[in-house]
Amino acid sequence: MNSPVLTTPNVDPQELAKFSELAHRWWDPASEFRPLHEINPLRLDWIDRQAGLRGKQVVDVGCGGGILAESMARRGAAQVLGIDLADKPLKVAQLHALEAGVSNIQYRAVAAEALAAERPGQFDIVTCMEMLEHVPDPASVVAACSAMAKPGGWVFFSTINRNPKAWLFAIVGAEYVLKLLPQGTHEYARFIKPADLARWTRDAGLDAAGMRGLQYNPLTQRYWLSGDTSVNYMLACRKAAA
Ligand code: SAH
Repeated sequence: MNSPVLTTPNVDPQELAKFSELAHRWWDPASEFRPLHEINPLRLDWIDRQAGLRGKQVVDVGCGGGILAESMARRGAAQVLGIDLADKPLKVAQLHALEAGVSNIQYRAVAAEALAAERPGQFDIVTCMEMLEHVPDPASVVAACSAMAKPGGWVFFSTINRNPKAWLFAIVGAEYVLKLLPQGTHEYARFIKPADLARWTRDAGLDAAGMRGLQYNPLTQRYWLSGDTSVNYMLACRKAAA
């Protein structure tokens, strides 16, 4: 894989390095990636219920080691393309799919903006989960995700809200108290208010179709979907039909 990092300004190399360093543990459900493993069935079902994965062309932007991408391929998508700009997570993702015998999936090191220019309007479903809060210009990624979607297609985002409670739960709680995530995983200033994400999606020609919060109870160690979007949340959008 070449290094598209040099050809796109919308990337923070330090962010990619964080994920590359941990990449070998991506599929260990007891590792730093445990939260992604635990929320995956919830978000997979949520996406599938609304957009229907079966037979669809899907692109997963910021796919990392492929937890969501591979699960969408297994759920019946015709073809899933996972893209990221960190090489190691992509290699881990590729190897995992190979070992698991999942053949309707491909991985590529390409920026969202570059893929949008290369394959505009070609995907039924675009997912971009837990990635926008690691990018210098998230609105540009949102616009690229919209550009990749077919008219009438679905685009799903998830990220972390920006408010004192989100700081307390997502940084102090998750990184320092519960140690679910390594310290420094998230940067408060990069968290995204739903109103900002909603504006970026509208500006990109997407209509909001629904929003859900992802809640965590540290005592039971369980996640669930709720109407509380004050910390982690997901937004479903549809691209206007042609
Ligand atoms: N979406 C996956 C992984 C989330 S971790 C999931 O939810 O399971 C965040 C991912 O975003 C990492 O793999 C990281 O390499 C990727 N990322 C960070 N900045 C990026 C950028 N500018 N372009 C593409 N991917 C990026």
